[in-house]
Amino acid sequence: MATDIIHDGIRHCGKVSSWNSLATSLCGKFFHEATYRDTWLSGMPTCPDCVAAKRSGKKR
Ligand SMILES: [Zn+2]
Repeated sequence: MATDIIHDGIRHCGKVSSWNSLATSLCGKFFHEATYRDTWLSGMPTCPDCVAAKRSGKKR
């Protein structure tokens, strides 16, 4: 399920695996459980790579 991932104060857009809590961001980064916060509140990502990926309509 798509969600926003906050890591190091940077908001990425991506999804979190429901079986191992590994977060995958649109910009191709991986975040392990407890290294990020996820939020269901909608907002703009502050990661430029995620913004670019979102704008290009890339989906997985
Ligand atoms: Zn990102």
